[in-house]
Amino acid sequence: MDIRNCDFHCPHCTGKLNADGYIELSTRRQSGEEGIIRLATTFGNYEYLHEPRVDFNPGEIVAFNCPSCRQHVHSEKYRDYAILKMHVTDKIIFDVLFSREAGKRRTYIVTEDGIESYSEM
Ligand SMILES: [Zn+2]
Repeated sequence: MDIRNCDFHCPHCTGKLNADGYIELSTRRQSGEEGIIRLATTFGNYEYLHEPRVDFNPGEIVAFNCPSCRQHVHSEKYRDYAILKMHVTDKIIFDVLFSREAGKRRTYIVTEDGIESYSEM
């Protein structure tokens, strides 16, 4: 499965979140600072760009919002994770969970078969 060809959508408004190989989300830190983050859409690649430039504190929980509808894209079941809808095809849609904790490099794809982990070892 080459997820670079997949589209990522907001779970609320279904707005498309990816462009040019990055997922773009609004961020809000615990300090109240807001910004924009661009996450690489290759799993195992935890590079990101953030505007303005910030160094997140290890263990800091970052709030992620949809740039279109401004709602949190957080999982209700796994509170420290953000959840996005990954459209593999028109009919195949998986949930993608990634950690909201700065420095915690963990991403999961939830398929019909169960959870596939893409955490960095
Ligand atoms: Zn939205």
